[in-house]
Amino acid sequence: MKIVVLVKEVPDTYGDRKLSLETGLADRGASETVLDEIGERSLEVALSFADKHPGTEVVVLSMAPEGSAATVRKGLAMGAASAVHVADPELVGADLGLTAEVLAAAVQRTGFDLVIAGNLSTDGTGGVIPAMVAELLGVPQLTALVAVEITDGSVSGTRATDAGTMQVSAPLPAVISITEAMPDARFPNFKGIMAAKKKPFETVTLADLAIDAADPAAARSIVLAIAEKPPRSAGTKIVDEGDAGEKLADFLAQNRLV
Ligand SMILES: Cc1cc2nc3c(=O)[nH]c(=O)nc-3n(C[C@H](O)[C@H](O)[C@H](O)COP(=O)(O)OP(=O)(O)OC[C@H]3O[C@@H](n4cnc5c(N)ncnc54)[C@H](O)[C@@H]3O)c2cc1C
Repeated sequence: MKIVVLVKEVPDTYGDRKLSLETGLADRGASETVLDEIGERSLEVALSFADKHPGTEVVVLSMAPEGSAATVRKGLAMGAASAVHVADPELVGADLGLTAEVLAAAVQRTGFDLVIAGNLSTDGTGGVIPAMVAELLGVPQLTALVAVEITDGSVSGTRATDAGTMQVSAPLPAVISITEAMPDARFPNFKGIMAAKKKPFETVTLADLAIDAADPAAARSIVLAIAEKPPRSAGTKIVDEGDAGEKLADFLAQNRLV
């Protein structure tokens, strides 16, 4: 069984996250960059299965700037057998379509029985990459799983919706996306960090994947304008002088909230 886990480098959610107002890209200098937590949870799903099923090969795959190798390597320290890092200057500002095209081509090149992704990244928050990758690979996808069971020929799991839960299943090969409700990931230990230095780490370019980022025939989206979020205003304070209820009702009515 070969499991490819899609992991993304993101600005640390505990830090000060900013957009560059010149490029629209994440301002990587504004905060620490980390492996997205949802990617770590996806990797944990694969590693937990591999722990109990010898012969399982877990590969981490990321499309990220050249300087992100150390972040991708964390996946190896956690326990993945190998890593593939797609890095190419032509990928700066890649939209969802190009990202999915690149990831699907890299997954195809690596070979796979199962692809595990997060349902939503913490920076781009597009939430569609796993579905696009599944479509391009021509395999089924199970979305937003809160529990996963992998067998030799199939993957099944639980989807939680506002109305209840549903059990879903798909034959392999398949793509699944998981949510933050999945268990926390393991921490890399010293042995894992040392072992990671000797594990296969492949850097792949667009030429290796035979993809042209500027292909005029491909549908690509571009950023037209960028604006910073306006600072939050202080809000309205209602002091109770015996008439707070009335003032509150007036405030709600004025703001068309009732
Ligand atoms: C040089 C360079 C600069 C980049 N700069 C930015 C940037 O400034 N801001 C930004 O948001 N993105 C950036 N990216 C990454 C890329 O453009 C986005 O990953 C992509 O658009 C996906 O958007 P999303 O996070 O909204 O996807 P979502 O659909 O929200 O992601 C869901 C899941 O898909 C998988 N996934 C998504 N993206 C990747 C990826 N790149 N590699 C592996 N798995 C992935 C993960 O499992 C993730 O949990 C950059 C990439 C490169 C190579």
